[in-house]
Parts: sequence; structure tokens; C-alpha cells
Amino acid sequence: MSVRLLPPTLINQIAAGEVLERPASAIKELVENSLDAGATSIEIAVRDGGRSYIAIVDNGCGMTKEDLTLCVQRHATSKLPDGNLFDIKTLGFRGEALPSIGSVARLKITTKLTNKGHSQESDQENHGWALTIEGGVQKDLEPASHPCGTKVEVSDLFFATPARLKFLKAAHTEITHALDALKRLAMANPYVAFTFKDEKKVLLQCAAQSPEDEEASLKRLGEIMGSDFTENAVAIDLEQEDFRLTGFAGLPTLNRANAQYQFLFVNGRPVKDKILNHGVKVAYADYLARDRFPLVCLFLELKSEAVDMNVHPAKTEVRFREPGKVRNIIVSALKNALKQSGFRASGTVANEALSAFKIESIQRQPTLTLHPVSSEQGQTQTRSSSGFAQGLKTFATANVTPSAPSYYGSRSSAGARNFAFAAQAPTHSSGTRGMAEGASFALKQAFSEEAMTDQISSHVSEQDDFASYPLGLARAQLHETYVIAESQDGIVIVDQHAVHERLVYEDLKAQMAEKGIRRQGLLIPEVIELQGDQYRKILEITQELEQFGLIIESFGANAVVVREIPAILGQGDIKGLILDIVDDLDETGSSAKLKETIDEILGTMACHGSIRAGRRLSLQEMNELLRQMEVTPYSGQCNHGRPTYVQLKKKDIERLFGRS
Ligand code: ADP
Ligand code: MG
Repeated sequence: MSVRLLPPTLINQIAAGEVLERPASAIKELVENSLDAGATSIEIAVRDGGRSYIAIVDNGCGMTKEDLTLCVQRHATSKLPDGNLFDIKTLGFRGEALPSIGSVARLKITTKLTNKGHSQESDQENHGWALTIEGGVQKDLEPASHPCGTKVEVSDLFFATPARLKFLKAAHTEITHALDALKRLAMANPYVAFTFKDEKKVLLQCAAQSPEDEEASLKRLGEIMGSDFTENAVAIDLEQEDFRLTGFAGLPTLNRANAQYQFLFVNGRPVKDKILNHGVKVAYADYLARDRFPLVCLFLELKSEAVDMNVHPAKTEVRFREPGKVRNIIVSALKNALKQSGFRASGTVANEALSAFKIESIQRQPTLTLHPVSSEQGQTQTRSSSGFAQGLKTFATANVTPSAPSYYGSRSSAGARNFAFAAQAPTHSSGTRGMAEGASFALKQAFSEEAMTDQISSHVSEQDDFASYPLGLARAQLHETYVIAESQDGIVIVDQHAVHERLVYEDLKAQMAEKGIRRQGLLIPEVIELQGDQYRKILEITQELEQFGLIIESFGANAVVVREIPAILGQGDIKGLILDIVDDLDETGSSAKLKETIDEILGTMACHGSIRAGRRLSLQEMNELLRQMEVTPYSGQCNHGRPTYVQLKKKDIERLFGRS
């Protein structure tokens, strides 16, 4: 069989196999052309999910008669002026879309050049031109009356390649794909108006945002991702060397079951890249359960030579010259943004709570157990400058009720492993950082005492001024679990255990990062018998355990001796802790997953070191908790992305009672 060149139509159909998977790909290519043509308004209409008809109308630059005849030729493009594939500034550059579509469908392009910047001759034409191609065969080229800009109509997609036609799904599925592609393009182009409709209804409508509006990008994202996102997202703007990353990151408490709402744009092009999903996973690892996904939208700008856009005909994949740097910038930008979000938790939580709040269910509830605070405790709320330290003492010296429900509820033997925190009074006056102080309430160490006292006393002078306390003033504790505070414009309900666990966890991490964890020697080293495999596993990670303050050695067959423990744990149930660490090791696998293991262990420590549900708090203690939440980053969610508090706005409560 001799070698021969394939006919152009066949070549185009082969290319179409890659460029055009389904109606959504044709729509994406055509809208990209409209954007490259400088359009500020793009209307897309489809029938039958795009299978029988697609029309794209734009108000872009339009084409001359000559360009119109050329643009349907293979590899004809106006977009690579210097012929440099590594300096791509447009969405298109391969010159493939129109000839591909023309080879598998009936294509009609009607266009009229806009007046600016074009040749005299063209300017004098006051009509446009229309060109038709069917299955790769050029039909008519004729004058047409048309406003400035271009209209591209695609009928009977894939009629010339029936095999591909068979793969198309139901109209609504094809619409979903098209909508997904269009949403991405709309997110990256806030100054362009988009309308997308099928024969039944308008599916997407975004008005053009004003270039003068600083919030244009966020407003557009709101139109696409919903107001939940815009109200619960933090802005990102980070510049590092030749990279700039902007966009918005959703608060961890606003999360979804998959990564569908994570978007990355590289130099304005929507791309799908594992780097994004991976970076997001790393950045949110501490704040979300592993099966939950945050919402993020990031725009990366970098020099065009630092990224290869020509990886696949569909142009949604890219290759970065320095993928490590891109990942780092994504991770650090997200982490910084989350840190700045402070104690915020997403308002969606309150909305969900409110919608679950039915009048009938209120009526059926038994009387709530409200613990009125004794007048003596109440007085502590008038903030003296020593209030904070005093309150900590109260925390530290109060006994943990032995019958208090264990955090571990579901874990069989763990209930017995509770640390007997704070069972003895701390020796504040000695100033030695020994065991007794360690045993004092762990929260105390979240901040250096002096700095914290200063901070609190500066709050104190603004006594009872709601405005300076975003989380309000504590009023009561319900069910020995929830702190109820009155804020300037609503009610704040705090889960005391969840939030305190977070505060202690953040403290442990900060300590680790700064100076390693402070250790204290045990007067009587504790010997713990372990099962054979538990024994081996814990000995494998003794060095890592040392990093966070646990000194463990082998002590004969299947026993270890604990010589030093993190000071923060005080007089805890050391055996319980070691067993929990072994359990954590079982759950997270080998010590290769060291970082995760350390974090999990810190989480376990934080849990041991935090106040339980079931512990009665004084008003003073409650207010201290609120004030610390306000100054601690990430305190709006627990270690698993669940909210630590819910804020109900006054106006919503009024709505509940029909007052407004
Ligand atoms: P590419 O976009 O890669 O250049 P296409 O086949 O999509 O390839 O388009 C070929 C050329 O047709 C473009 O380079 C552009 O000059 C012209 N063109 C296509 N669509 C439009 C449009 N809507 N408005 C103006 N010019 C267009
Ligand atoms: Mg194109």
C-alpha cells in the first residue's frame, strides 16, 4: 500500500476527533474566539443540548471577507503574530476549531468588521459577509446584513461523523457540560456579558461588570458560584518572583463532597491541573476532614514562557516549567489567606441552622436547661485588669467532673484514658515552668502570659462595648456544652469543646514551629506494657515523638518507659496517650506519613488538653474563651472543618418570630 496524503476534509475530521468531544467543546472554542475578538457581550443559544443547533453571537472585532474565507482553512489563525508558541496571549492559537467544526457539521459564519483600526476599503463596506460549509465542503459566500461582530451557527453537529454522534448523551447532560465550560470562561472574564439559553430557558446570565469596580471579579464569581461563596471567601493576592496569584478561597466551614468547585486560571485560561487540587488539599489539611473539599478560585499570572499551553488540542491542560514553585505559591497563598480569616466561620452554617428551626419543633422541646450564673460569678464580668489571669486560675483549679461524657464516646476503652487535668492547683507564683504549671489549663500557654494580659487589659477598658467584641459577651451556658453570647447584632452559640480543642491545637503547632515542644521530666518514669506490634511501631517513631516532647525508651520485651512528656500535658493519663498514639499510627499507616501522624497526634493532645462538653464554666471563663477565639487564627472551625460557633443575626431571629 503506497503512502499518500489524506484529503483535507479527512484531516480536519481527524483533528475534530480531538478538539470536539461534544457540543460543549464546540461552544467553548467558539466563545474563546469571541473573547479573543475583544467582544464585551456574548450570547449563546442551543437546541437539543447543542446537537441540532448552536449559535454564538458576539460584538467583537468581526472579520473582513478575506479573513472569513481563510479562517475555515486548517491552521489559519490571526493569533500567533510572531510565530512564537511560547508567547501565547490569546485563548486560541492552533487555527483548528473552525475547520474542525466545518468538517463534521453544517457551519455558517456571518460577520461584519467593526470600524476601528481596519483598512479603508473594508471600512467602506456597510454590510457583512456570510460563509457556509457543510461536512467540509464550502458552499456559499455572500453579502449579508449584520451588525458589527460575528455570529457563528453550527447545525447538526457530527452529522458527517455518525460514530461520534452515537456517543452523545441526553440533552440535559450535554447542557451541563456546556454550562460548566461557559461558567469557567465567564469567571475569568468579568467585564464581558454572557447569556446562555436553550429552547426552554435562560441557563446563565451575567451582566458585564465595570472595569472601574474593584470588586468586579468577586461579583462575577458570586454570579457563578453563588453568594454563599462571596460572603464566605477570603481574598488572595500574592506576588512572588515572576508569579502573581489572586482570587478567593472559601472558609473551611463552607465545603463540599467533591472538588468540583475548585477553579484555576492560568493567564486567564481555565485549566484543569492536579497542582491545584493537591495544593488545596495541603493548605486545608488541618481544617477539613479528608473527604470534604473547600471552594476556591485562583488566577495565576506568570510569564508566558514559564508555561506551555500547547499540551493538548483542547488547551485545558498546561505544563509549568517550575511546577514546584507553582504548588508552593498556591499552598502559601491559601494558608496565609486562611490565617487572615481569623475566627470567621461561614454564615451558611447559621442559615442551615435557621432553616431547621421550625416553630413546631420549638414548642415540642422540653424546657432548656439553662444554668444561671451566680451573682458572684457574674461580677467577675466587670473586667478588672487581673480578670484574665484570675479566670485562668479558675479554669486551672476547677476539677474535671469524673462523670463528664468523654470526648471519645465512640472509642471503646478510651473513656478511661482521660487526662486528669487541672486536678491540682497550679504554682503560679513560683514562675517555674514545671509539672504543676503544665497541669494548669492548657489554654494558658496559647499566648505568652504577659502579652495576653496586655491584650486583654486593653479590651477591658472598652468594657461592655459590643462593637469591640465581634463574638459578643457571654450570657449563659446551655447543657454544660454550649456558650451563649450576645453580640452587637445577634446571638453567638459556641461549642466549648470544639473551639477549645482548636485553640489548644493552634497553640501546640505554634510552639512546635517556634521552639519545639517544651518537655518536663517525670519524677517516676512510667512503664507501659504494649502488644508486640504496638511496641515495635512506637519504637520506630521515638525520634519523631521526641520532637513534640515525648521521650520514650524500650524497657525490656514489649514494654516502654516514658521519661519525659510535653509540659503542656501536665499530669495526664500517659498510658492513655501512648495507646492513642499507637492507635493513630494504626489508622494513618507507616511512619512515612510522618507529618500527618504528627498533626494527628497534636490533635489527640489538643483533645486531651481541652475542656470537655459537660464542664460547667463561669461567665469569666466563657468570656475568656470568646476573647481568645477572636485573636486566634482558624478558630472558626474545629480540626475537621466543622464550625466551632454559629452566629444567628438579630434580623434572622426577628424573622423567625415574624417581627420583620
Ligand atoms: P484560532 O482561534 O486558534 O486562531 P480558529 O479556527 O478558532 O483558530 O479561528 C480561526 C481564526 O478565525 C481566528 O484566528 C480569528 O482570526 C478568526 N475568528 C474566529 N472566530 C472569530 C470571531 N468570533 N470574531 C472574529 N474573528 C474570529
Ligand atoms: Mg479558536
